[in-house]
Amino acid sequence: MEQRLIDANMLHDHISAVFDTWANHGQMPDKELILMCIDNAPTVDLARHGHWIESKVNGHSYFCSHCWTNFRFDPDHIPDTCGVCGAKMDE
Ligand SMILES: [Zn+2]
Repeated sequence: MEQRLIDANMLHDHISAVFDTWANHGQMPDKELILMCIDNAPTVDLARHGHWIESKVNGHSYFCSHCWTNFRFDPDHIPDTCGVCGAKMDE
């Protein structure tokens, strides 16, 4: 199975709330319910995202909206990631 990042603190609070809710109804959550909580915890996205900002600085150039590095590109061949910070230009 492919690795997936989740927020342990959020999951801790979620599972705690599930146990409290079920305890109030005199029941105990089962394995299936706990696994469902884990499987449905939102995936954490650590990727950087940005977009190119066209500029007249340095002739015709582009700034990365994430790290503000200035680049000169052939307008027909604009990269889809920043070569300095690695941001994906999909914002
Ligand atoms: Zn950048």
